[in-house]
Amino acid sequence: MDTILVVNAGSSSVKFQIFAVDSDGNPRRQIKGQMDGIGSRPRLRATNAKGEVVAERVYPTENVRDVSAALAIAGDWVRDELRVAPIAVGHRVVHGGPAYDRPTLVDPGVVNRLEELISLAPLHQPYNLAPIRSLLAKFPDLPQVACFDTAFHRNHPKVADYFAIPQQLSDEGVRRYGFHGLSYEYIASVLPERAPEIAMGRVVVAHLGSGASMCALSGGRSVESTMGFTALDGLPMGTRPGQLDPGVVLYLLTTKGMSPSEVQNFLYKDCGLKGLSGVSNDMRELLNSSEPGAKFAIDYFVYRAALSAGLLTAAMEGIDAFVFTAGIGENSSAIRMRIAEKLGWLGIDLDSAENAKHAVKISGSGRTPVYVIPTDEELMIAKHTLSILQNTSQPVVVQTRAS
Ligand code: ADP
Repeated sequence: MDTILVVNAGSSSVKFQIFAVDSDGNPRRQIKGQMDGIGSRPRLRATNAKGEVVAERVYPTENVRDVSAALAIAGDWVRDELRVAPIAVGHRVVHGGPAYDRPTLVDPGVVNRLEELISLAPLHQPYNLAPIRSLLAKFPDLPQVACFDTAFHRNHPKVADYFAIPQQLSDEGVRRYGFHGLSYEYIASVLPERAPEIAMGRVVVAHLGSGASMCALSGGRSVESTMGFTALDGLPMGTRPGQLDPGVVLYLLTTKGMSPSEVQNFLYKDCGLKGLSGVSNDMRELLNSSEPGAKFAIDYFVYRAALSAGLLTAAMEGIDAFVFTAGIGENSSAIRMRIAEKLGWLGIDLDSAENAKHAVKISGSGRTPVYVIPTDEELMIAKHTLSILQNTSQPVVVQTRAS
């Protein structure tokens, strides 16, 4: 049976999944794995479709110094022990810039162009691209598809994508892009089956995980997002601040004398729930903590999520449904309830029992239905990869959006 390998590579871990292509041409998940502790305590862990552990092993640090080495070890395990030879690899790539508005078959030229976007996503893009480059060198004939977190947002109205800065900078690509697009695309793709009555309506989707953002879906398409030029904007996250007056960055650079790279590390790694609480970046730990900082970080997260729901509703001039997804959105009935309590004015309220059960539909008697829909970015990548393979007889065209 044909298989697709899906790779989501970060700075200290490589997550991978294997999908078998069934007789109807649909991808079915077989294996979920992760190489983590890259450069510190490398470890491979994988489970099968039933959730049973099929690999759990550690490696000497010197054998797994970087993301490419981690993927090579995972690849050897897949080939030698599972005896699986994927027909293609789909990669999550955080930034596609202004040009890439859809998944794209990669070649060295595409990788070069994507490397030019590293400064827009310094803590994600290089790690996403390293395994693509090393696989291109080792297996030049293996089709690889880059799937972008920005692509689903590429058709926003112009007013949603621009900053109030001189046009020349916007033309250079200093614009709002939006991220978590693979997650929102997945949600949009399952709404017609899970909630047909609202699928083509105005839906606010809250992707609340370690990274968090919200998206306005209208007629199944993204029209606005809380994230902007980089994945720092919008909602507070595990370690990122979300919306921040740019004057704060100037203050850090001038009054505090921080270097640009110190500011970068600070904004990506020391802010958000972690910085605010002084306790943890992890919502579960905050919910279990009695520290005042933990309580305040949760209050702040809930407040900003509710504010953003209002903002996205204004973008669509109304709301027909609300969807929670990702780690916090799918699993924390307490956070869902706290956010919903601030959104009564939008016709949102929750049925406590359905919310506690993490049911698909958790709304009470309010006019706006509320859903919990687990996201599946990897399945989206597998589907895109398959669809590009099926169309490789046609040239893959990169659409450039007029500015
Ligand atoms: P990412 O994919 O961005 O790393 P996830 O979508 O896995 O993140 O979400 C991770 C977040 O979800 C963490 O803050 C974690 O604490 C939170 N989370 C997971 N399960 C629960 C739960 N039962 N209650 C509250 N928060 C949870």
